[in-house]
Amino acid sequence: MTTLVSKWNYPTTVRFGAGRIKELPEVLEATGIKNPLFVTDPGLAKLPVVASTLKILDDAKIPHGVFSDVKPNPVESNLTAGIEVFRKGKHDGVIAFGGGSALDLGKLIAFQAGQTRPVWDFEDIGDWWTRADADAIVPIIAVPTTAGTGSEVGRAGVITHEATHTKKVIFHPKMLPAIVIADPELTTGMPPFITAGTGMDALAHCLEAYCAPGYHPMADGIGVEGVRLVFENLPKVYANGNDLVARAHMMSAAAMGATAFQKGLGAIHSLSHPIGALYDTHHGMTNAVFMPYVLAFNREAIEGKIERLAAYCGIAGGFDGFTKAILDLRRTLKVPHTLPEFIKGLEMDAERKGLIADMAIVDPTAGGNPIELTRAGALSLLESALKG
Ligand code: NAD
Repeated sequence: MTTLVSKWNYPTTVRFGAGRIKELPEVLEATGIKNPLFVTDPGLAKLPVVASTLKILDDAKIPHGVFSDVKPNPVESNLTAGIEVFRKGKHDGVIAFGGGSALDLGKLIAFQAGQTRPVWDFEDIGDWWTRADADAIVPIIAVPTTAGTGSEVGRAGVITHEATHTKKVIFHPKMLPAIVIADPELTTGMPPFITAGTGMDALAHCLEAYCAPGYHPMADGIGVEGVRLVFENLPKVYANGNDLVARAHMMSAAAMGATAFQKGLGAIHSLSHPIGALYDTHHGMTNAVFMPYVLAFNREAIEGKIERLAAYCGIAGGFDGFTKAILDLRRTLKVPHTLPEFIKGLEMDAERKGLIADMAIVDPTAGGNPIELTRAGALSLLESALKG
């Protein structure tokens, strides 16, 4: 038993349920935020879901600013602009409202606005987070409008370093939102492509965390139930975006994925990150493309685990049955089977393939893959995803 040594962290308060967005004023009061900056993305900013949320603030006479210059896969210039607005408006907290992109950027503004060092000094490497001035980090309220990344219950923000085309994970324990409002009604407006991609992201998190080596039975349990929830509910929300019960289960699965992946992720993410950074693809959909190839690649190490998972999810046929279920789910959701089907006009020469493999093996998620991800392994996975 002495080898069973691990470190477990658990998330924050989540006010979960349809209609709970109306509790925003009392959540602000509970966190002591008097003048929040509301951070969202430009697409959402045009939708009624943002207007009705801002009206809740107006009706409660809560002063606030709005920042929406956040691109999908946010970049440093978004952060710089957001910090400027935050400082100018003398804000004392952030409401991060949106999908993973707006949530991450909102969290990063709250974290970085009071720091003196560049954000890249706080990458999720060793104890780099201890370099930060923790007292300068302002409280965050997170309100997800997609059900995938689970960023609302995480202590990190992902941002693309444009000069090197790499996605960097910035980490600090105080980047964990103080309170989350998880209101599935806010997700009903997602178009099918985003519903599918974000749902597959939640699945990738639950699945990779469960398969990652390491001792974390709680993450394993959460991951297993998260996978079951996705299989049961993702086809439902894809077919009917207004199915609130299924939307609620997907919202849970997303938070469960991010809770579980503190244990580790794996090669789905190691390859998805460079593809996302180089081709600006949707993160969850990129994960979905790689999923069956990585499953096959890791088979030797995870067969028994996947058999147990399949049995729990009511999927017959052990490992092969589970693989078929993933392929069927992808077909239902119209997930492209290969990278060329996904990225129009894609052409990759040997140099580009080598670059992606090099980026994949140094990605922080590579260490969680059940089989060591070598350069040759990353290249063979890339070839599989290119050819199908
Ligand atoms: P996203 O935030 O990039 O949003 C995608 C699109 O969906 C946007 O155009 C947005 O306007 C739209 N959208 C969002 N909610 C909507 C709604 N309710 N109705 C209609 N449209 C809506 O997508 P995402 O998949 O949620 O987030 C991806 C980002 O999250 C990537 O940058 C990824 O790297 C990051 N990420 C972070 C973590 C983490 O732990 N912090 C984990 C995984 C991914």
